[in-house]
Amino acid sequence: MSDFLCVKRLAKVASLGFLSVFLVQACAVNPVTGRQDFVMMSEAQEIELGQAYHREILKQYARYDDEALQSYVNAVGQRLAKESHRGDLKFHFTVLDSPEVNAFALPGGYVYITRGIMAYLNSEAELAGVLGHEIGHVTARHSVRQQSTSAVTGLLGAIIAASAGIDPEAVNVLGTAIIRGYGRDHELEADRLGAEYLARLGYDPEYMIGVVRVLKNQELYEKARAEAEGREYTGYHGLFSTHPDNDKRLQAVIQAAKRHAGAVTQDDNERGYKSQLEGMVFGLGEKEGVVRGQRFYHKPLNASITAPEGWSVLNQPQQLLFVSPEKDALVRVSLKNRGKAETPLALLRSMLGQAVEGQGEVLSQAGMSGYSTTVVVEQTPFGRRPVRYVVWFKNEQTWLFASVAKELGGLDLYEPDIMGSVKSLRILTTAEKTTIKPLRIQLLTADASTRYEALAKKFPAHEVTVQRLRLLNSDYPDQEPEPGEQIKIIQ
Ligand SMILES: [Zn+2]
Repeated sequence: MSDFLCVKRLAKVASLGFLSVFLVQACAVNPVTGRQDFVMMSEAQEIELGQAYHREILKQYARYDDEALQSYVNAVGQRLAKESHRGDLKFHFTVLDSPEVNAFALPGGYVYITRGIMAYLNSEAELAGVLGHEIGHVTARHSVRQQSTSAVTGLLGAIIAASAGIDPEAVNVLGTAIIRGYGRDHELEADRLGAEYLARLGYDPEYMIGVVRVLKNQELYEKARAEAEGREYTGYHGLFSTHPDNDKRLQAVIQAAKRHAGAVTQDDNERGYKSQLEGMVFGLGEKEGVVRGQRFYHKPLNASITAPEGWSVLNQPQQLLFVSPEKDALVRVSLKNRGKAETPLALLRSMLGQAVEGQGEVLSQAGMSGYSTTVVVEQTPFGRRPVRYVVWFKNEQTWLFASVAKELGGLDLYEPDIMGSVKSLRILTTAEKTTIKPLRIQLLTADASTRYEALAKKFPAHEVTVQRLRLLNSDYPDQEPEPGEQIKIIQ
């Protein structure tokens, strides 16, 4: 769960806009095709725009706090950029502190890669593949071309979308494109250019297909999980429905890139890449909260909640979910904007209308006072069902718990479990503040007895962790580590 309260503020910035940039209309030569593009922006304006958006990106995403990793990624990126169609443009590469599996580029040479995507890559060559693809979007001026033919809004919408989840009111199609992808033709062109830059640097351009395969497997797995849990999944923008191994168009552009290749002079530098990842935060970081066993801890919010015994705990960007073992009941925990409401009851009334009645005040185990009510909701994961709401005002924070069960009467059945959990919201102890840390990537040299099953044993979401370890090490869906192989583990 992350803090998503700044959406409104950014939307305001977006409406002020960077309109002045678009007042001058000009034709520019496309650096990749050499043809005239009808783009309403000079290179200087493009750079100015990139700088402005870069500042907004860094307000929404934190830069990952590891200078060694930043300069490593920058070095790989700069080498590729020199080989690109815009070798004179100053490129900027930033690793973002986000568990999201994503990379994207802004106009003017600003390229971003998340620590989330870096965890799944297994070599410097694959990193170069991702960066090359993003450089391709910049050199082919995809964002500028789309920007010029659409309404002048949206880029900031994309930033909002990426940082806060999709907000349909704030995001238009163009804005989404920057971070969610440009459509098949532009993505394919970026793959072609990325492969070409790999080849020019002396890497085998086939690594581009390797990257897409790694990310596609990760996406397929996470998508299936998201569907099973009834939530939306938004993956990396470069991926399309066809698996790379069967993707004729992708295969063709990689073959074409080989024209630019001399001999393959660079090995993939698997060891060097993995050593850079050692100690990197994996999954949700401190600002999203940490799950240990049945307990959720959030240091910046100074809050802890315990899930009912035996229930699964799913920590997602905008909500925390507790799911019963039979998957027939769930508790959704989220932060709300309090608005003008002065009491929990007033907030429930503003959310649900005057239907709020009955049940009344509740007291948490820590002595906090809240309000509880049950109303019938048309659209729950189980269809039309009664939903039990509890609102807590914890200092300036407003916590909303919404519980629903599959069977009518299920809420009563699960009442002790659910309310025990709901009432467990409390502040952190001093010991918890110092000991609760996010998970990190560590390296392990496998021997003949190393099994993912055993490595995943101590994690509560055991089966998920087994498959995630395989995805992290290109052993998905059913392979085991080979003796002597250096693998990434989570600790
Ligand atoms: Zn792309």
